[in-house]
Order: sequence, then structure tokens, then C-alpha cells
Amino acid sequence: MNLILLEPGDCGPDGRVRLTDPRRLRHLHEVHRAEAGDTLTVGVRDGRRGRARLERFEREAACFTLLDLDQPPPAPLPVHLVLALPRPRMLARTLEHVTALGVKQLTLLHTRRVEKSYWQSPELDPARIHDHLVLGLEQAGDTMLPTVTVERRFRPFVEDRLPALLAGRRGLLAHPGMPDPCPRGLSEPCTLLVGPEGGFIPYEVERLREAGCEGIHLGERILRVETAVTALLARLF
Ligand code: SAH
Repeated sequence: MNLILLEPGDCGPDGRVRLTDPRRLRHLHEVHRAEAGDTLTVGVRDGRRGRARLERFEREAACFTLLDLDQPPPAPLPVHLVLALPRPRMLARTLEHVTALGVKQLTLLHTRRVEKSYWQSPELDPARIHDHLVLGLEQAGDTMLPTVTVERRFRPFVEDRLPALLAGRRGLLAHPGMPDPCPRGLSEPCTLLVGPEGGFIPYEVERLREAGCEGIHLGERILRVETAVTALLARLF
């Protein structure tokens, strides 16, 4: 937790902040080893970053005074990431990684090789997703919460929603064996599609390319989803 993320409602009009939730209290204690008098980096969700002084730190509450909130959050990545729904544990880690890397739009998509049972996972509970996004924001010192949408059917997504996601931006389909290498140093916005552990099936690759996506590869090594996403984002931006 390189930044303590405050909810807009945590901040009183007098610049006082009182935190009582066990996760942040434990983290302040165990990782920051925070003590009264310390100055820590804070940020307001979907708002600015700054510093706060820890005035009192007790078992059940940490009380801060905001010193300033004058820093904008770090720049977001200009990418909409469309990710075939990974297995629940990988989903949790991937949500944190991609949030820390600066993804602000994420779609979780059903494809043929996504196991149906993954859609029943408690990790898809909006509150759980929110918790992972917050961990990613805190890691990266960011405040802007990503938007996560779910698409439980492939065809309606490709036919009805993908055209809007590709309007005015490049669509990049990451798939081993595609003819072109992943581009580097993009500055224009793009939509990036990453497949499930078993990869996209040929039908899906065909549909996505017909819709206007360029097939790209990362070399001959097949990477795990979370590694592939990190490598793709690092190389693209
Ligand atoms: N078993 C599949 C690969 C799945 S890897 C196969 O052999 O085709 C999971 C996802 O990570 C892929 O769908 C792709 O989106 C991405 N990925 C992994 N390695 C990649 C590479 N070398 N090039 C492009 N995409 C890759």
C-alpha cells in the first residue's frame, strides 16, 4: 500500500479522516509500521493525491489530518483490455496487476475455452472485484478506479459491442502464431484482446479479425495469461 486510498466519505469537512476498516488498519500497522506523527501518502478515490499526518493510531481507528491533496493521479494507459475470464485465482492477481499498470477499462469475456464454472466464482462478486482493484490502485499510487464489465456471451459481444470499442482506435488481438509482432511505444488508444489459458479457438480468431482486430504475437514463447498481459502492456506503452 504505497498510497492509502480514501473514500470521498472518509474525509470530513475539517480535513480529518478516520479509518476503521481492519484491512487498512492492519496494513498501516504491519507494512507501514505507522506511528502517530508520521506523514503518509493518501489519495481520494477518483480524485487527487496528497499527504496526511497520522494523529492517533489505536486498535480500532486511525485518525489523520489531511495536509494537502494537490497531486493528480498518474496518467492512465490508453487501452481497453478485453480479457477472456481467467480461473478465479488468476483473475484476482490479474485484476491487481492490470490496475497497477494503469488499465482503466476492462471487459471480462466468455470464450469457448473459458470453463463455464469460472462464471460462478465468488471472485466475480462486484465487492471482491472492487477489493482487488483497490489493492492495484494502492500499489501504484493511483486513485482512479477502473471500470469492469462482463460479457458472458462471445457472439453478441463481437457483433453488438466490439464495433464501438474499435471505433477510432486500433484493435489488437494477442494470439500466438499471428503474423505481426506486438507493436511498441503506442501513443494512440487501442483495444487489446487476450485469450484464456487454452487460447482463442480458430472461429474466435476469425470473427475478431473480421471485426477489424489485428493479430499480434509476442514471440514463440507461450506465456501465461497474467505474464502475457503484463508483457503486452509493457511493450505497447
Ligand atoms: N494454449 C494457447 C495459448 C494460451 S496463452 C495456445 O497455444 O495458443 C493465453 C493467452 O495469452 C493467449 O490467448 C494470448 O492472448 C496470450 N499470449 C500468451 N503467449 C502469447 C504470445 N507468445 N503471443 C501472443 N499472445 C500470447
